Amino acid sequence: MAKFKVVLEREECTACESCVEACPASFEMADDGFALVKDSKRVGSNDELDLDDLGCTKEAAEGCPVNIIHIFEGSKKII
Ligand code: SF4
Repeated sequence: MAKFKVVLEREECTACESCVEACPASFEMADDGFALVKDSKRVGSNDELDLDDLGCTKEAAEGCPVNIIHIFEGSKKII
């Protein structure tokens, strides 16, 4: 089981591209104009990705102006 889970609420994305600039390894803008988490699975309207190493995803989450990138460590929400 991965240590972290990244969840992106895509329906709330304002397409500012901040996350892509902060962490292009994990985020990109999709054809529909909103951000997506690379290699994630779509759960409802969210993207979810399990990770053992957060890399730059934490900086991207912290920089999202509408706070729709969430990170969980186990069951604890850290962002
Ligand atoms: Fe969307 Fe947040 Fe990324 Fe901006 S930083 S593109 S609002 S997910």
